[in-house]
Amino acid sequence: MPSDLNAVVATIQTQGIRWVRFIWTDNAGLIRAKAVHTAFLDDYLKGDGVGIAAAQQALPVMYDAPSAGSGLTPAGEVHMRADWATFTPLPYAPGHARVLTDIYDGDRPWGHCPRTFLRRAIAQGAERDLHFMAAFENEFYLLEPEGDGWAPADPTVFAQTFALDSAVDVIDEISDALEDQGVVPEMLYSESGSGQFEMPVRYADALAAADQQIVFRETVRAVANDYGFIASFVPKIFADKAGNGAHLHISLWQGDRNLTADPEHPDAISAEAAAFAAGILRHLPALMAFTTPSTNSYRRILPRFWSGAYTCWGYGNREAAIRVPQPPAGRPITNLELKTVDPTCNPYLALGAVIVAGLDGLEKDMSPGDPVQMDPADLPEEEREAKGIRRLPENLGQAIQALEQDQVLLDALEPDLARSFLAVRRAEWEGMKDLSHEEEVRLLLERY
Ligand code: GLU
Ligand code: MG
Repeated sequence: MPSDLNAVVATIQTQGIRWVRFIWTDNAGLIRAKAVHTAFLDDYLKGDGVGIAAAQQALPVMYDAPSAGSGLTPAGEVHMRADWATFTPLPYAPGHARVLTDIYDGDRPWGHCPRTFLRRAIAQGAERDLHFMAAFENEFYLLEPEGDGWAPADPTVFAQTFALDSAVDVIDEISDALEDQGVVPEMLYSESGSGQFEMPVRYADALAAADQQIVFRETVRAVANDYGFIASFVPKIFADKAGNGAHLHISLWQGDRNLTADPEHPDAISAEAAAFAAGILRHLPALMAFTTPSTNSYRRILPRFWSGAYTCWGYGNREAAIRVPQPPAGRPITNLELKTVDPTCNPYLALGAVIVAGLDGLEKDMSPGDPVQMDPADLPEEEREAKGIRRLPENLGQAIQALEQDQVLLDALEPDLARSFLAVRRAEWEGMKDLSHEEEVRLLLERY
């Protein structure tokens, strides 16, 4: 029995845990669990883990039926194996604990497992002696049920302190619950939309950063629900208010050295970071099938909404898809921020695909072009074209088409995951493209 499992057993006993939720995140970005009663935990440890239908990875967000063309049918069972290092009791659900899992087909990692895909992308970086630190910077709305709909929990604008006062109890309990689970909230403010909040968390190594995203989404929704709020991560709930991003902060490391800043000019990005950013920008239209995967995502990606609608990068530029956050004078740049990401993404797939794209930039020594230090929407069309600045896909259908033609990303997914992932995206696009904004939000509001 691995030693961390001893610690898990001790926690189960001392904290009176009855249910351990085995968690997986599917191709639709939904977080799902099957819970095992601790009286029977041994059976699931000594056996092959907890079984789920293989067809789970074929389900679109709308309903529980497999998407056509996924290669997965109702026949076939795969097994979730716990990664006990991620085990944590749930502060908001006494007697319950969560563990994150990798999915196995017999004794081999399953071709459709998202966490395995991210592990492969990380290993690809390790071949170049690189590793990655990352954090998803989440925005979410706190809503109150109103009639047969909902309304923002406060009337505030960006950083208005009253939002923190009016939601202090729920925010404090969310913070406590995150800290209890080892996720460190780093900042907190009221975001631009009324009822909207942002709570960035401390970065972690790439796999842990994706794991943290699961903990964050689960915790915020559950605690808000205890206080009578709906917390929603849907990218665009209100057409006239700011969207919910989950900007991805990422840095390149060699051993304990952060390679993101140029060693000679630490207020500029290094050659490695530039090539990595170039790879992301080159693949971004296809990457968006992972980073902004829902039909609703494209209502958020708009010029002049700080959501990264153009393929360009810049220092401190909040309209560029890649912003290089600027530290105070004299301090080195630490990371890149990809803004074209939202919290409906499956974080394992999104981060894995971003790493693959960035590594392709390094492999092929790509250049991201000059930094853009103004709103790209203000450049005349011809100038944008001359600089290679393109408007990113304006709907999920366009992102799917880009992915269908992106051999680097398809190869990295390998055939099984490429097939099921694309089948789910296509089913969502076909099933939802004609919904009105309101119908779409009604369907998604409490899924994400
Ligand atoms: N809410 C914006 C978005 O949709 C981001 C605002 C910001 O820069 O934090 O991405
Ligand atoms: Mg923000």
